[in-house]
This record gives sequence, structure tokens and C-alpha cells, in this order.
Amino acid sequence: MQILVSNVGSTSLKFKLFAMPQEEVLCTAKVERVGSETAIYQYTNEKTGWTRKETAIPVRSYAEGIELFLRDMTDAEHGTGGDIREVGGVGFKTVLGKNCDGVFELTDQVLSAMREYLFIAPAHNGPYLTAIGEFNRVLPDVPKIGVFETAYHATIPMKNRMYGIPYEWVERYGITRKGYHGASFTYLAEQARTDGDWRNIIGCHLGGSCSVCAIQDGKSFDDSFGFSLQTGLLHANRCGDTDAYLFPFLQDAGLSRDEIIEGLSKRGGLLGISGVSNDLREIEAAADAGNARAKLAIDVFVTSVVRYIGAFYAELGGLDKLVFTGGIGENSAHIREMICGALPHLGIRLDPEKNRTLRGEGYISAAYSPVRVQVIPANEELGVARQTYRRILSGTDMTVEQTL
Ligand code: ADP
Repeated sequence: MQILVSNVGSTSLKFKLFAMPQEEVLCTAKVERVGSETAIYQYTNEKTGWTRKETAIPVRSYAEGIELFLRDMTDAEHGTGGDIREVGGVGFKTVLGKNCDGVFELTDQVLSAMREYLFIAPAHNGPYLTAIGEFNRVLPDVPKIGVFETAYHATIPMKNRMYGIPYEWVERYGITRKGYHGASFTYLAEQARTDGDWRNIIGCHLGGSCSVCAIQDGKSFDDSFGFSLQTGLLHANRCGDTDAYLFPFLQDAGLSRDEIIEGLSKRGGLLGISGVSNDLREIEAAADAGNARAKLAIDVFVTSVVRYIGAFYAELGGLDKLVFTGGIGENSAHIREMICGALPHLGIRLDPEKNRTLRGEGYISAAYSPVRVQVIPANEELGVARQTYRRILSGTDMTVEQTL
């Protein structure tokens, strides 16, 4: 059976086609800078090694990205050789749906639950609902499975989950910290513990969306994301932690509700501070060229990560391992160096040479560092493929115990 996993990021779209249960990757594709005229597209047939790479093409919507991939996947010469009907399921790293913390077939009911929480995760549920709709049209008879991002965080204890708000809001609307990037942290926690029974791990998923997760005995213990994905670290476009009273203040100052939401969620984050781009590569280049706001954006970003590492170090009562993942976490030696360089008092010491030269998975800490520092490339797709395959074989949704 083939399982197609589609990962719809806030600024990117990724595809991976797996032959299951052998977990063989047949082809992969990635579209970066979705929504721009200068998107980057890459498709690889993993069996033959054939690659198509286009570096400045218009990909205005997620739908256009899906079409690009399906064109190559089904191509007679460079596709995967099989029939599209061999795809037994499409797995999605879905973000959030009301009462959907688990693995669910994406029935109309589950899609409605996602739509009900559209406002809380607009940058994610919207594109996912669009992508799922596209797949329903192209592959109407293939089950679509949602592996929800909140599922991994169901173990966060209530003392780390509660906001100091009227308790009836918690009961009535379910407002607590939820935590996201669950597929990434499920894989990271498993992978980080393959060489030791590390009790306390802090994972940093730094990409278009960014979060820090405190992991104890392999389970999520706390997370920088709150009720929505607008919180926590500085993101590419989203503001991260801010003050709830900004909202009424700006409304009184004459801004409309939509203007405020647009500012906080689309014109904030790295883009908002730098005024250059939401892409760290471009911000780093601008900072190197002397742009003061670009440099400030990088400093604020690093501070936001350092702040959460410090908080979670305190909550966990120590740290065995710090792990970086995500587009920035895996690729920016400079950002890793800045973060670790701010934390020698927590026993975090990098090996600068290893940090600069590492490609893929590996340790970057100095031999004498009390805390191990590791890079683990994100493999959310494999986690989603496994869960999707299991869900299709079992025929039943997998729910996690409700925490409230
Ligand atoms: P998403 O969260 O949207 O899935 P990714 O995890 O792919 O995104 O991360 C995308 C981000 O990674 C980009 O915004 C870019 O800033 C950053 N990135 C990728 N490669 C590099 C690099 N070599 N140096 C610095 N940043 C990078």
C-alpha cells in the first residue's frame, strides 16, 4: 500500500509518498515560499534519483503547489511508475479541531470541527481544509486521515496548561494551553532517546512556525504554544507572545478587529520587526549588510528561544539534552550558536566546528558540555505515515484521553 503524506506549513508545502509497511520513500516534493511569485519547487523520484528543481516560479496558492506535485508524481517517465489508485490513504498533519486531539478519518464531521476552530488556527486550518478539499476531488475514494498536532501534548499536566482566567471560560470554551508541532516532537522525542534514556529534553522546532517543547520521560511536559498558534516564540509572520490588552488598546486607537488580527498574524514576527522578509536567510543577509532592523529581528528571535529554554530548564529541574529541528534549527548554524552562546550557565557548550559543519543528524555539543546538544532533522512525515497506515488498517479513530 502507498501512503501519501501532505504537510501544509505556514509558508511551505511538502509531499512524501511512502510504500508501507516497509516505510520506503518513493518520491518527495517541496514547495517553499508558497504565496509568492518566486517560489522554490523541488521534486525527487527517490528510486531513480531524478530531480526537478525550479527556483523562481509563481506558486500563488496551495492548490497550485498540489497540482505541481501530482503532475510529477503521475508523470509516465519520472513518476513513481504505479497507478494513483495504489495510494491507500492520504495522511495530513492537521493542526486543530474541536475535540480532535488524536488520529481521525477526515469525515465531514471532523472537517466541521476543524472549521469551527478556523479562527484559532487560520494560517493552518484554512490551507489544510483547502488541501484536503483538493485531494477529495482528485482521490475521492481514498481515505484522508488527520494526525492532529495537539495529540502529543495531551500529557501536559494541568498546572502547566492553565491560564489565570475565569474558570468558567475554561469549562465553557476549553481555553487552555494546547501545544502544537506534535508530529515533529513525537518523532524528535523518540529519536532523541534512541541512544539513552534521557529524562529531560528540550526540543526547539524552529521553522516558519517556531516552538519549544519540554519533554520529560519522552512525554510532553510543557510547550511554548498556547491556546492558539499565535503565541510563544517569534514566528516568521506571527507575533508570538504578546499582551492580551494590546487588542482593546489598538481597537480604542481606531484599528479594526481585522486590521489588528492581520497585523499580529501576517505582518508580525520576523517580517514585522525586520521589515525585510519572513525568511531568515534574507534577514541574515540584510543583517550582514548592516540593516539594523534585520539584526534586531534576529536578536529578538534568539531571545524568545532563550527565554523558553530557561523557563523549561527550571520547570524540568535540569536538562540532559537540547535538540534543534525545523528549517532554521537544522540549517542555521548562526542561530544555534547565538542561542547556545547565551546559555553557558545552564551547562550548554557548543563545539563550534561541529556546529558549522554538521549536515543531517548529529551532536554539536563540546565533549565536556554537561548538556548534550543535538540536531535531529524533522521527520514529521514518517510519523504521520505510520499513524495513517495504522488508522487505515485498524479502521478506528485513535483518540487520546481528554485532559479536561
Ligand atoms: P515551515 O514551518 O513553514 O514548514 P520550514 O521548517 O521549512 O518551514 O522552515 C522554513 C524556514 O527555514 C525559512 O523561513 C527559512 O528562514 C529557514 N531556513 C531554511 N534554510 C535555511 C538556512 N540555510 N539558513 C537559515 N535559515 C534557513
